[in-house]
Amino acid sequence: MVRSAGSKQRILEYFMKNLGKIVEARDIQRASGGVVEWARRVRELRNEEGYQILSHKDRADLKPGQYLLETDKRIPAFHRNISKETRAWVLERNGYTCQMCGVAAGDPDPLGSARTVRLTIGHIIDKSKGGDDSPSNLRAICTNCNEGLQNTAPPKPDRIHLLAQIRRATIDDQRAVMQWLENKFSTPAQKKRH
Ligand SMILES: [Zn+2]
Repeated sequence: MVRSAGSKQRILEYFMKNLGKIVEARDIQRASGGVVEWARRVRELRNEEGYQILSHKDRADLKPGQYLLETDKRIPAFHRNISKETRAWVLERNGYTCQMCGVAAGDPDPLGSARTVRLTIGHIIDKSKGGDDSPSNLRAICTNCNEGLQNTAPPKPDRIHLLAQIRRATIDDQRAVMQWLENKFSTPAQKKRH
């Protein structure tokens, strides 16, 4: 398993060091610590955090695989189509709880920092995959999950509650769980996916 902890932060630092310079995909991946999902982290920096990272889709003089951050100015959140009211509404709908890992605003940081958990708004379907900014495609997620740190310390669900969740799930979801477990336990270690 490739650890993705902090990879987005490392990519951002790399762009900041090379502000105004064209950088290549392989250098971004190296800077990320070699994570497979570096391109996803780049999209998140752009779509969720407002960094104006340009690619060949934005500028004709960039080749595929080349990226450019010209300015450290971020597009403010209110220009990214999600209003304060929508944010507040989504947080309330989700009970001020991270929809990925389950921590709540104000809980102690499970990764051990002195800060308490802070929540932000994330997309359920990534904007790069056609998701939009409508409230139905938004969810509360903690900053750890938003930064891709969630693999480092997933809270372990307890068995009784986990089984209860699965019993309450749709047949489709139960089948998906079964298939995931079958895949996990019937194949050699290298085929395991998390
Ligand atoms: Zn979380």
